[in-house]
Order: sequence, then structure tokens, then C-alpha cells
Amino acid sequence: MDNVFETALKALRTAGKLGGIDDKIMKILEAPKRINEFRIPLKMDNGELEVFTAYRVHYCDALGTFKDGTRVKPDISIDEVKALAFFMTIKHAVAGIPAGGAKGGIKADPRKLSEWEYERLIRAFIRNMRPKGPWTDIPGADIGTNEKTMSWMLDEYEQINGHHMPAAINDKPPILGGSQGGFTATGTGVFYVLIEAADDIGLTVKDSKIAIQGFGTVGSVLADLVYSAGAKVVGVSDVDGGILCPEGIDVKALTKHVKSTGSVSGLSGSEAIRTGELFNIDCDILVPAAVENVINDSNVEGIKAKLIIEAANGPTTPSAEISLLNRGVFIVPDVVANCGSALVCSFERAQGLSEQYWDLDTVNDLLKNRILKAYREAVKTTKDINSNSIRNGAWVNALQKIGEAIKMRGWV
Ligand code: NAD
Repeated sequence: MDNVFETALKALRTAGKLGGIDDKIMKILEAPKRINEFRIPLKMDNGELEVFTAYRVHYCDALGTFKDGTRVKPDISIDEVKALAFFMTIKHAVAGIPAGGAKGGIKADPRKLSEWEYERLIRAFIRNMRPKGPWTDIPGADIGTNEKTMSWMLDEYEQINGHHMPAAINDKPPILGGSQGGFTATGTGVFYVLIEAADDIGLTVKDSKIAIQGFGTVGSVLADLVYSAGAKVVGVSDVDGGILCPEGIDVKALTKHVKSTGSVSGLSGSEAIRTGELFNIDCDILVPAAVENVINDSNVEGIKAKLIIEAANGPTTPSAEISLLNRGVFIVPDVVANCGSALVCSFERAQGLSEQYWDLDTVNDLLKNRILKAYREAVKTTKDINSNSIRNGAWVNALQKIGEAIKMRGWV
């Protein structure tokens, strides 16, 4: 089986062909600009030494400063980090963010570290990576990192440099200069796109039945927003199982239930289903907001939704996508639907650099405006290239923007 970076390159070549992208641009985009791989020696709490491998990949900065998250997981590989840095290059271009794509990784299991070990590891990551600030490379959060780790990163960066620079690190809490709406950005962006796409195919959210896989950061925010907009959330699932309620789930009650039990299962008044059954329930709009490859050949025939919004990264396999598109199902791909956090991270940098901090309404208004522009552009390019796949349209649109920047810089 192809590794994840090979898969990313396949997507690049497909979009390059569809969009007639110049071979010289394609040559530049076939590999990262720079890979920084380093080892971090760490004294553990018991006095033993452990050495952790870490990476920071700079993929392409034709559009602007390198930017994006840091993933900490035990099985991370350089190919995974390269692929993620490449996907961020595409996502920033789709979203119209003047930033390049980067990604960091630490091969470690945060659950096996004490809090103090984890803090030392994160601070050592910054010392060894030596980020050069908001005009060069801005690390943010991803799997295994959060507001607390980003606060340690910012503090370490500022201690090393001897001055405050909140724009150097993203995804920090508002008390340290983080943006309002950072935590809810992806779910909120998905909501704006969902309303627009539903309207495009003649659905109104108020009268729609919606199924959501995943009730974490993204899924729970989205569920709350569509419920407040009057939609019927008829099914929700998480890693432990799912619930079905054709009359509509009380999402406020579900949120309380998940807070107290840790799972959506067992909500009073709902019927239990297996997590995978969610894809085949009767609904108008389906939102995968959990993990990759969940819409696949095993369940695609049973999907009844007319609209799929990919809140998760890579939830639909290529063959399932072809089958859905052939049946006329409208799919908004991940690079468009979930770029809300990339947008709010770019707002976070702008706020840090200007020392003007915005309220939540300002952040959300701008998020809405920018994510809908990204959606509209992707739909337009889809028509321009005569495709029925907005994924193709979004990728070609991104490659056109990156290609133009590369040409204007005189790199080719
Ligand atoms: P999270 O960890 O907060 O929540 C994940 C949810 O998915 C949980 O409810 C979990 O129980 C459920 N889940 C996990 N494995 C599952 C499985 N095998 N089957 C069914 N449900 C499962 O994660 P999140 O931050 O909400 O991210 C969800 C998706 O959105 C991921 O694909 C992520 O890459 C993508 N995404 C997130 C952000 C963000 O800002 N958080 C940004 C862009 C993309």
C-alpha cells in the first residue's frame, strides 16, 4: 500500500493534470523545500535518559510564511509530517490565506509522559527547532498538542529571544494573545459552508435531517449550531457507538450527557446504533467529523444523504467518492469545509502583530466571509474544469494560486 506522502503526490498529479498546471510548478511541489529532523535528549522523572525524534517540515512558502500544527504521537513518521505539511500548503491556498504549509512532529506518546516530562519535551522541541518568528514559521496545535502546550512553546520562544512576540505561536489561549473563537473555528466554519451548500442544492437547514459522526471539538460545535438553527440532528456517533432519534436529538441534553458520561451512547429517548450504522440512516445531510476513510465501499451504497460535508480530514475513499458523485450526491471536501481553524490561526497572527484583539463577533464575521469565498471559488473552478468533484476544483484552484505566486517570484 502507498504511504501517506505517496497518496498526497497522487492527488497533486491528478489535480495538476486536470488544471493543466505547468510542469515546472509541479516539479517544485513534488517535495518539501526543507526538512528539519532532530533528536531531543530528555531526562525523565526517574533519572533515565530518553531520546525523542522530532521534525519540522517546510513544504512551500510561495504564498507566505510557513505555518501550521505540531503533532505528537508515538508512530509519527517523516512521510506523515511531509504529507500534512503539503496538505496545509493546499489548504492555505484554498482558503486564500497568504501562508505556506508546514508541519511539526514529535515521536512520543503524551499519555506515557508525566506533565513535567511533557513540558520539558515541548520546551526542548522549541529550543531545538529554533523557530524564527511570525515572518518565518509559526507552529500551531494538532493531535497531541493543545492550548497548554502552545503556551509552553510561546513562553520558551519568548524566553530565548528576550522579548514578547505573541504572533510567533498559534493556538494559544486568549490570555496570552490567542484569538477569540479559536477552539470553535473549525465547527463554526463547517456550519457556514453547510448552510451555503445546502442552499445550493435546494435544502434549507431548518427543514433538514442531519447525521454527524464524531462529537469532539468539531462535531459538538457543529451539532450545537445546526440544532440552534432549527435542524433535526437525527443521529450522532462517536468511537464507542451511536444514537438515532428520527424526531431529532436534543443537542443541549446530549452535550450535558457527553460531559458526564464521556460518550454519546445511552442518551435518554434515543435508540442505540453501531457507530458505522450512522452512514446509512435516513438523513439529508451527512457530516463525517471524526476519522479518515469512514465513507468507503462497505457503506457507500446505503448512504441516503444528498449532501456530505467533510468536516474530518480524508473521510471519503476515492472509489466511494466516485460512486457518490455518479449518484449526484453533493460533496464539500475537507480542504474547503474544515479550513476554519487555518483561517482563525491567520487572524490570530494578524492580531498578535497588530496588538489589536478582536471580539468573537468580529472573528466569526470574518471567518464566514472568508470561508464562503473559498467555497465559492472552489465551486467556480470545479465548473471551469468541467468536473463534478469540488475536491478537484479546490485542488486546482489551490495549484493555480500557488503556481501564480511561484511565477511572480520568478522561481520558474
Ligand atoms: P476530537 O478528538 O475532538 O473528536 C473526535 C471525535 O470522533 C470524538 O467524538 C471521537 O469519539 C470520535 N471518533 C474517534 N474515532 C472514531 C471512530 N473510529 N468512529 C467514530 N467516531 C470516532 O477531534 P476533532 O478535533 O473534533 O477532529 C475531528 C476531525 O476533524 C479530524 O479528522 C480532524 O483531523 C479534523 N479537523 C479538526 C480540526 C480542529 O480544529 N479540531 C481542524 C481541521 C480538521
